[in-house]
Amino acid sequence: MKDVIVIGGGPVGLVAAIHAARRGLSVTVLEPRGAPIDKACGEGIMPHGVRELDAIGVRPPGMPIHGIVYADERRSVRAPMRSGPGLGVRRTALHLALTEAARGAGVETLAAASSGVAIHEGRVEVSLGRTGELLRSRYVVAADGLHSPTRRGLGVDRPVGLRHKRFGLVTHARTSEVPTDVEVHWARDCELYVTPVSEDVVGLAVLSEARAPLSAKLPEFPSVLARVDRGSVQDRVLGAGPFRQRSARRVVGGRVLLVGDAAGYVDALTGEGLSLGFAQARLAIDSLVSGRVQGYETAWRRTVREPTALTGGVLLASRWGPVRSGIVPAAVALPTVFEAIVNRLAGAPAHPSAR
Ligand SMILES: Cc1cc2nc3c(=O)[nH]c(=O)nc-3n(C[C@H](O)[C@H](O)[C@H](O)COP(=O)(O)OP(=O)(O)OC[C@H]3O[C@@H](n4cnc5c(N)ncnc54)[C@H](O)[C@@H]3O)c2cc1C
Repeated sequence: MKDVIVIGGGPVGLVAAIHAARRGLSVTVLEPRGAPIDKACGEGIMPHGVRELDAIGVRPPGMPIHGIVYADERRSVRAPMRSGPGLGVRRTALHLALTEAARGAGVETLAAASSGVAIHEGRVEVSLGRTGELLRSRYVVAADGLHSPTRRGLGVDRPVGLRHKRFGLVTHARTSEVPTDVEVHWARDCELYVTPVSEDVVGLAVLSEARAPLSAKLPEFPSVLARVDRGSVQDRVLGAGPFRQRSARRVVGGRVLLVGDAAGYVDALTGEGLSLGFAQARLAIDSLVSGRVQGYETAWRRTVREPTALTGGVLLASRWGPVRSGIVPAAVALPTVFEAIVNRLAGAPAHPSAR
């Protein structure tokens, strides 16, 4: 019997597995998709997320992010990152670096999906795929993403009942003007995130309530399109959503711990998902090693409290047209407030030991 089975070998699951293996636990990751895994993502890691990766010796190739720019077609404002640079990184490069580190730490990976989790006295049984073969472990870390089958299967999925469901669409383009910041361009009903991911490639991520194709949304950002090689805007578009997901709790039956998007998610608006997930992965494994599993719920709440409030606030403001169109002007008029908010998110000490 393993100490830990991690369901989901995305970035957060792999970080959890690396922490577990380095703390002397035997660990198996279940992931049906082959490496490197790509995913719809803005691909910007906040400085505190970069520190989480540093702490486990993972340095994927990417581009430093020195600030956040808010812009519309008329004006812009920049907030420098005060706590060191973030990192713009292709999801495939991040996944390869984490896969390599997990292998080096002795993590076992099985190319299989979990089809169900049963909690028993002192152990958890995980059924595999369609065969139903059983694996047993002392604990399970569920890192199976936004629509976590484990969260649903355990009955802790909570309806969000939102009228305003938001989705994300992502592609890439070549440019000779790769920015050193993440740019957030605000249009009437969507935002475009421009993230540097290599010397000549940017990620383009559009977030909106509309389920329109990316090709219908990009023309709303002529100043960005003028800076990229339009012919290189990739046909391959990845999508994800709806963003808002809730879980009743993070620790189920004292044996299953939910981390990353599986534990609940607000919105991609503030680019926090990976960084928070990495901190949660570390805190979940800390709680197992210290024998205080229930403490993970409190630790999780601490990681998300401030980002949830800030993201929720901007999201609320962005829903009402007149307020939405005032977001960039307000940030331009109050640059110190904008900078303070960005740096709360960028440097947010998800847990004191991460600093
Ligand atoms: C459009 C968009 C833009 C974003 N921009 C940013 C950004 O700029 N910065 C940032 O930090 N975050 C951003 N995010 C959020 C970020 O992508 C997520 O927070 C992050 O991917 C969460 O990682 P995870 O490992 O929890 O989940 P995932 O990356 O979704 O990984 C989950 C894994 O679980 C596997 N899985 C699913 N079901 C099973 C099963 N039954 N058995 C086994 N495995 C299973 C999947 O195959 C997958 O590999 C963005 C998200 C979107 C949609």
